[in-house]
Amino acid sequence: GLARVHNGRRYRLGVMGGTFDPIHHGHLVAASEVAARFDLDEVVFVPTGVPWQKKGRKVSQAEDRYLMTVIATASNPSFSVSRVDIDRPGDTYTVDTLKDLRRERGNDVDLFFITGADALSQILTWRGADELFDLAHFIGVSRPGVPLGAKDISHLPAEKVTLLEVPAMAISSTDCRQRVGENMPIWYLVPDGIVQYINKRGLYRDIRNIAEDH
Ligand code: ATP
Ligand code: MG
Repeated sequence: GLARVHNGRRYRLGVMGGTFDPIHHGHLVAASEVAARFDLDEVVFVPTGVPWQKKGRKVSQAEDRYLMTVIATASNPSFSVSRVDIDRPGDTYTVDTLKDLRRERGNDVDLFFITGADALSQILTWRGADELFDLAHFIGVSRPGVPLGAKDISHLPAEKVTLLEVPAMAISSTDCRQRVGENMPIWYLVPDGIVQYINKRGLYRDIRNIAEDH
């Protein structure tokens, strides 16, 4: 693999998992802020395969979500995109994501899993929860409507979880999909290239597939 010791210390890799249907500026600001505050060398965005939490709604094709994530992150030299979850058959579990990245990047890399405050509180309900804290440090970022600390995380190991206030972006993918379905603009909520890609592919026009979920 690649050299993993930078500036005399271990390589620090952020991992931002998500459905990214579509990716929006809330995701990008969160990743950028965590990268700066935790001195990360890179943040890898990992679009999910079949999202088991979201089976009530038809999620866009993995390839569309992957390409949007590539388009949105392409200009940032510290951002990258991984196909591990979309190339793995079956449902996506964070424990598998982290194990695959660990395998790809080797043991000299420290992993920092970045997740919204809404998702963090459910962490112990995730499959393989007992293994998760050996694989990565977890960073729960603030999200408008989900106050940091509102959810009880006292049952999680304190040295393995950090809560971080990031600049508030009241944007969700659900809201973006809804706007497209209602012919409302999504300019400035998502990168320009994402607006254009959504139009080009005709995503989110079918109102039946917009439904709220988290
Ligand atoms: P949906 O509305 O479809 O659930 P979403 O906007 O929540 O989409 P996801 O792909 O589900 O986006 O989110 C991936 C990760 O990014 C999650 O950990 C989520 O908590 C976090 N996240 C999403 N939007 C924001 C935001 N505006 N600010 C901070 N974190 C966010
Ligand atoms: Mg969500």
